[in-house]
Amino acid sequence: AKEQGKNQYQFFNGEMDRIVLQKTIIETALHEAIEQKQFVLFYQPQFDVQTGELIGMEALIRWIHPKLGTISPAVFIPIAEETGQIIPIGEWVIEEACQQMKRWNERIGRPIRISVNISPKQFLKESFVDHIHSVLKKKQLSPHQLDLEITEGVAVFNEQYTIRKLQQLKKLGVHISIDDFGTGYSSLSYLRKFPIDRLKIAKPFIDGITEEKEDVAVVKAIIVLAKNLKLRVIAEGVETLQQLDILRLLQCDEIQGYVLGKPLPADVFEKTYITSRLQ
Ligand code: C2E
Ligand code: CA
Ligand code: CA
Repeated sequence: AKEQGKNQYQFFNGEMDRIVLQKTIIETALHEAIEQKQFVLFYQPQFDVQTGELIGMEALIRWIHPKLGTISPAVFIPIAEETGQIIPIGEWVIEEACQQMKRWNERIGRPIRISVNISPKQFLKESFVDHIHSVLKKKQLSPHQLDLEITEGVAVFNEQYTIRKLQQLKKLGVHISIDDFGTGYSSLSYLRKFPIDRLKIAKPFIDGITEEKEDVAVVKAIIVLAKNLKLRVIAEGVETLQQLDILRLLQCDEIQGYVLGKPLPADVFEKTYITSRLQ
């Protein structure tokens, strides 16, 4: 037993070293990535369930490293959040997304929305609202076209501060969505206090709606809750037509997921969803 204990300790130690090393490597590489602009945005379409119309898209960051290839945001965003590198990365994402939307506006002819993911550290930075304001002005984009996806996590830090910032964003005319709704541990009381526009039902609930009664019950309850609070509701991670049918029956407003479209680079997104519809 003693021997085993020693091995476990060694394993644990080695594993920790590996994780720390991996983090250090990514942190250093991120520093270069920011300077050398190794990031691109992909765009995933969002549709109105009833009309089938394209109503917006979510910008999702991709890191294309010259040697390591594509690194998933699920890997590097949490590290960037921890090191603070999310600030310059996040500012780039907002500018790039707004720039892209401005280009697409001229081709689409009706205003559609662009959703951008905002991490808690980014949202809580004092200059955040000013930055949003200045980018919208610089890119001459209507604030109504910008949707910020935040998580329930922003409420944990300082509720009063978060409410004040959300009110400032609301005054600007920016749209706010709660991402991964239902997965946070915060109480629902913030829904009454936060000036938000949309709930995004987290993928794990959507995964289960064709098999699990409990998941149907949760999704149904979120949709009813959203309607009663006069919020829009979108389901994400929708992968099958069966899930889509159920969501339509439950009167979910909007859909995003592989079944209707994967995230695509800007030029492919444009050919697939923008130019093709005009012909
Ligand atoms: P998220 O905001 O919840 O984004 C949804 C993720 O699910 C994306 O993964 C998207 O590609 C993926 N997805 C969409 N539809 C489906 C589907 O039908 N099936 C499956 N299996 N997956 C689907 P992605 O692009 O790898 O991003 C992962 C996470 O990284 C995001 O989760 C978000 O938290 C973060 N992230 C991505 N881009 C940014 C960014 O620009 N800024 C910040 N702060 N975070 C970002
Ligand atoms: Ca998101
Ligand atoms: Ca999400």
